Amino acid sequence: MFIRKARNSSSSVSLATLVRSYRILAIESSCDDSCIALLERKSASAPLVAIDQVKLTLNSSKVGGIIPTDAHSHHQSSLAPLLDAFVTKHSLHTSTPDLVCCTRGPGMVGSLSAGLQLAKGLAVAWNKPLIGVHHMLGHILIAMLPSPASSSTPRYPFLSLLCSGGHTMLVLLKSITDHRILVNTMDIAAGDSLDKCARELGIEGIMLAKEMEQYINTIPSAERDRFAKVNTSQGHLNKYNFKLGLPLRRPKHGKEPDEELSFAFSGFLSSIQSYKAQKSITEFDEETRLFIAYKTQEKIFDHIIDRINLALLKHHDDIINVKDFIVSGGVAANKQLRNKLSTNCKFPDNDVSFHFPSLELCTDNAIMIGVAGVHLLEELRVKSDLSILPIRKWPLDEIIEKDGWIDISSDEYNEITRET
Ligand code: AMP
Ligand code: ZN
Repeated sequence: MFIRKARNSSSSVSLATLVRSYRILAIESSCDDSCIALLERKSASAPLVAIDQVKLTLNSSKVGGIIPTDAHSHHQSSLAPLLDAFVTKHSLHTSTPDLVCCTRGPGMVGSLSAGLQLAKGLAVAWNKPLIGVHHMLGHILIAMLPSPASSSTPRYPFLSLLCSGGHTMLVLLKSITDHRILVNTMDIAAGDSLDKCARELGIEGIMLAKEMEQYINTIPSAERDRFAKVNTSQGHLNKYNFKLGLPLRRPKHGKEPDEELSFAFSGFLSSIQSYKAQKSITEFDEETRLFIAYKTQEKIFDHIIDRINLALLKHHDDIINVKDFIVSGGVAANKQLRNKLSTNCKFPDNDVSFHFPSLELCTDNAIMIGVAGVHLLEELRVKSDLSILPIRKWPLDEIIEKDGWIDISSDEYNEITRET
């Protein structure tokens, strides 16, 4: 087995002239979403197009979090019937896709293996190559899928904020495999923190952070302006007696930080919990609940921006060449986060384009796995060995270093892409 090293991005997407059309079946099952998608590239110069996607999410609202064994059972019972209906709908029995892509990691091993086994079975039955995709690469590269909202696709080097239920990191990508993590979370992810804070405030639903966004949106604008002016930092008294500051210190006098930069999100929940304990609150009055929900979301987003701006300062020499900023993952669906990032991020060059995937492509989905799989195939000319195993923890900067990549020959590549 030969493992190909990362190619320079300038040699990427070197598709030769004639491609008749190739289609990709993609599966995502890393967490609680069973998801299947079909994508197509009609010619070498044609954009990649998402044809269809189906998704079934485990409902964990009653148990207060995703239980891995329940998620495993969910995928085992959902994926095959979803696939069956999808195959019939798109006549895939008679017109089989040319490539099978599937999430290999990181994620819950049971969940991953349910999707991976199904993908291996399809690859064998259809005699087509398999690509085991890194889930976070999918979140990032979804921005490469042309969309009506974005006039251009990102070009390397670009910066990506990946902000989801499982991960929060700022990454500099110089090519599909050259990833440098500039800021990572030292505890939990932003989405996890928002979900936990929302639950503590008594908000109900499946995606609690999303529910909390909608709850905050019910605040009349005059009230919101009043909330915005209330100072919750230590040493300031406020009407609600609620204290919430930004975690982690900034270097003094606007200095460039020397230490490794991190996000820290677990303190937000502790602040709400200690407030409740201190005041013996079992149920909030509505105004206080709205105020705390509003301030918590604001401070979490302010913390993200604070750390990004420090990273922009610290890595100035690399960032100066960045012209695109991708914001992805479930939390990126939040309109207030999008507004705050667009307004407050201090790039050295003002001419940076922001890319926000459409809302339904921010949360876990199989289209992003298909897009990342196609980029791995087209830029690196690799496929996965059929013996690959799911990977629970898989650093984003070690994608091609993992076992199981196989170089593919020009003939095989042409066969997959139906090049003539
Ligand atoms: P992912 O892990 O990428 O599938 O994203 C799921 C996470 O994103 C969960 O923590 C969700 O609560 C969170 N999320 C989804 N929609 C929103 C939203 N509109 N605002 C904030 N967080 C959200
Ligand atoms: Zn995700």
